[in-house]
Amino acid sequence: MQAPVRSALKSIVGNEHYREADGDLVPYSRDATPLFSARPDAVVLPADTREVSAVLDLATRHGIPVVPRGAGSNLCAATVALHGGVILSLSRLNRILEIEPAELLARVQPGVTSAALADAAAERDLLWAPDPGSRTVATIGGTIATNAGGLRGLKYGVTRDHVLGLEAVLPTGEVIRTGGRLHKDVAGYDLTRLITGSEGTLAVITEATLALRPAPRTSGTGVAYFSDLAAAGRAVTAIIADGLLPATLEFLDRTCIRAVEAFAGLGLRTDAGALLLFGDDGEPDTVTRALTRMSDACATHGALEVTRTAHIAEAEALLAARRCALPALSRLGALTILEDATVPRPRIAEMVERIDTIAERHDVTIATFGHAGDGNLHPTCVVGSPTDTETVARAEHAFKDIFAAAIEFGGTITGEHGVGAAKLPYLSTQLGPDQVALLRRVKDAFDPAGILNPGKLGS
Ligand SMILES: Cc1cc2nc3c(=O)[nH]c(=O)nc-3n(C[C@H](O)[C@H](O)[C@H](O)COP(=O)(O)OP(=O)(O)OC[C@H]3O[C@@H](n4cnc5c(N)ncnc54)[C@H](O)[C@@H]3O)c2cc1C
Repeated sequence: MQAPVRSALKSIVGNEHYREADGDLVPYSRDATPLFSARPDAVVLPADTREVSAVLDLATRHGIPVVPRGAGSNLCAATVALHGGVILSLSRLNRILEIEPAELLARVQPGVTSAALADAAAERDLLWAPDPGSRTVATIGGTIATNAGGLRGLKYGVTRDHVLGLEAVLPTGEVIRTGGRLHKDVAGYDLTRLITGSEGTLAVITEATLALRPAPRTSGTGVAYFSDLAAAGRAVTAIIADGLLPATLEFLDRTCIRAVEAFAGLGLRTDAGALLLFGDDGEPDTVTRALTRMSDACATHGALEVTRTAHIAEAEALLAARRCALPALSRLGALTILEDATVPRPRIAEMVERIDTIAERHDVTIATFGHAGDGNLHPTCVVGSPTDTETVARAEHAFKDIFAAAIEFGGTITGEHGVGAAKLPYLSTQLGPDQVALLRRVKDAFDPAGILNPGKLGS
């Protein structure tokens, strides 16, 4: 970057919110995706929409790449500055502007964390439903830009189902407002949905109007152990076929159960081949009835053991088993590659079997956990050392086969983590050349100079 551009960036955000020293750039050279890193030329931390707009206008005029960044917790290398340029951190835009119970909505800046919004909503007996495992750090901007899913997707939907309107800055500097406070609004193309999930390649989100729900009065959770995942898969199918829509339906395979137990000592049964967490929320009677029916479905389909609780603290302890799957697996090796593939729900067991076969064929360790309710699997490869390039290469081949299998089963290469740089090589296999070409034309319409997050979606 030329000196005049650096000076202009400093004068937009102020010296104290501009970084270019080597040491300051290190934390912005990676995100949560292993195996990807690149050094940006600078980091800017604007204070408001006006400064975001000025940075983007400058970048377009000078052809400087800009990578929007929330917490950097994405798992698809979406915030790695592959072409250098500027990391645009939204962390200073971190205010909850409004929570309006009468309209069941919140208006927030993008740097607010998902957990902070959930807590603020809960204080007013409201629910912010999107619930990614990373919610304590993940920002609303990143959650919208990745259309994050999480543990409650089956009952409540994913992030896009809760975004009513956005304020966003185009790469050319114009500020647009899409949607608004209305649940019904069909004026024009649905740009709110287009920007949601666009992974920082079309516009920078500077404010969001989000739908809240009344908080459920109580919740209950149960755990069922099975000898294998096929039996757990049959129980999942039976639960849904029984007309239930659980708030929680998560599974762990044998390797995950053992890793979680070694990590957290929750008293899990380590002789089981699969663990299914099920649960619901709502009125106490409804929750009790739903839990009984889910327990029965598990027992009917061969559960080795079923327990349940209607106490929130105990339910949280059970959910901890699922939430700590990744840190638990991380202890098995210095490098964990967490992936994301989704198949239609009835094919989960078949897909997990295929993952096991693929892992064996490539001689790598892959454990699988995920959101059984929406077919979203997280096969996770554990490698002893990141410098073991031979095993890393075998893991990459294994994942290539896993994504191909997901497509073969009518699924997708990513259910919630996004495409970023990591999945871009697989995108055309799923979408086909015509759709990829259309994505590029959409990208060009928003970003004629191609400065916003280059090397990712739309490239
Ligand atoms: C332990 C762990 C558990 C996770 N669990 C889940 C899960 O259950 N479900 C799930 O879906 N994901 C999960 N993730 C992935 C990730 O945490 C989510 O995608 C999260 O929403 C990203 O938020 P972030 O603030 O970290 O965004 P970042 O990683 O900073 O950015 C993600 C993308 O959004 C863009 N972006 C960020 N802010 C803006 C903005 N204001 N305007 C425009 N673009 C922007 C970036 O350019 C990038 O493309 C998990 C990750 C980890 C590490």
